[in-house]
Amino acid sequence: MGCTPAAYPLLFRFATPRQEPHSKRMLELEDALQRILEVIPQPIPELVPLAEATGRALLEPIFSPIDLPPFDNSAIDGYAVRAEDVAKANVESPISLRLQGRVAAGETFTARLEQGACIRLFTGSPLPHGADAAIMQEDTRVDAARPEQILILDRAKPLDNVRLRGGDIKMGDSLGRSGELLGIGLTSLLAASGTKKVVVGRRPTVGVLATGSELREAGQPLAAGEIYESNRVALASLLTRAGCVARIFPLVADVPDAVRSSLEQAVNECDAIVTSGGVSVGEFDFIKSAFEAAGGELQFWRVAIKPGRPFVFGRYAGKFLFGLPGNPVSAFVTFLLLVRPAVLRWQGFRDISLPAHPGILAEVMSNRGSRRHFLRVKMDPGGNVSSAGIQASHVLSSLAAANGLLDVPPETTLPVGTAVQVMMWE
Ligand code: AMP
Ligand code: MG
Repeated sequence: MGCTPAAYPLLFRFATPRQEPHSKRMLELEDALQRILEVIPQPIPELVPLAEATGRALLEPIFSPIDLPPFDNSAIDGYAVRAEDVAKANVESPISLRLQGRVAAGETFTARLEQGACIRLFTGSPLPHGADAAIMQEDTRVDAARPEQILILDRAKPLDNVRLRGGDIKMGDSLGRSGELLGIGLTSLLAASGTKKVVVGRRPTVGVLATGSELREAGQPLAAGEIYESNRVALASLLTRAGCVARIFPLVADVPDAVRSSLEQAVNECDAIVTSGGVSVGEFDFIKSAFEAAGGELQFWRVAIKPGRPFVFGRYAGKFLFGLPGNPVSAFVTFLLLVRPAVLRWQGFRDISLPAHPGILAEVMSNRGSRRHFLRVKMDPGGNVSSAGIQASHVLSSLAAANGLLDVPPETTLPVGTAVQVMMWE
């Protein structure tokens, strides 16, 4: 009698020479990302009020319509002077100037500053004609008996305390480029140049689903074998940070029809969906089959990273499925590596990689496996990088303690003192 697989399944499995069947093939991370980015649509332009545009991707170049500052003005509260009139002033021998008038911010002074005179002004007041410097109020004195004479206690050079027209930005200067993040500082600059609305990339609406019959909502009691669902809130936060509108859907049990109808509903109501769980090889992993049953087309499955190997990517009528593994750290890491760049590019961002910060290993980091391992690490303000704790993909205490990921190549040990780049998400 022969030793058949049916009769001795376990024995057969161990006795068979190891071959990599088709189903075990994995894409390299860069190839997987490349395949996603190839099919991500062009960003959709949206004209929005400046106040709503911060944090989004500019989809048009912006040039300043005006000089900034728009006119020469004072940087201080004090007096406009002709520098040559006060070139020799000092505390011991003050120079007395006749007070010719006053100009507040928002006013203009039409007359020309006369020789031997000064004009009271304030921060932002237009510099009167004929003046070429401003003296700080603190460097002057006024005798009560002669209020029309200002005693100048310090000398001035031309342009002292003067903010020149165009000294910040010249009319026609580039303020922002297409594909650039409209940061808060740039928003401020655009506001100063009189910008009311800007063209930015539309935010995709992304549905967030969690599958698993063991999952319960917070607030519900846990029966034996049940756990609280934790991926949707993390993924929704990550999506929001990445500029998307996140929509959280109800929990989905591991039942084929339930998975299919939830996917159908979510994909119809959103531009893309991010699911967690159900993408592995177990009998209760229905995401792939349910997505196909709903009319979706799977693009690839499995990426050679740890955590996060069973990542799945699919398309459905111009929409997308990002099927993340259920283990919370795997879901988190695959989001950062594969979903975040996709949704950023979809909004028009040129720069889509996670910010990388240089650091130095304070302890040995090793990866004995055959896949790149993205370790949860903690980098202190001095750049010293250490492990954030246990690296198993269900362990959330180390994720909470981490502020970055360290990409350790397969079969690699990095000694203490190695210069590394830490990818950070916050
Ligand atoms: P799965 O990818 O569905 O095989 O799940 C892998 C592991 O992650 C299991 O231990 C699940 O219980 C757990 N898990 C799956 N989805 C979630 C979730 N949304 N929140 C917390 N744990 C989860
Ligand atoms: Mg599951």
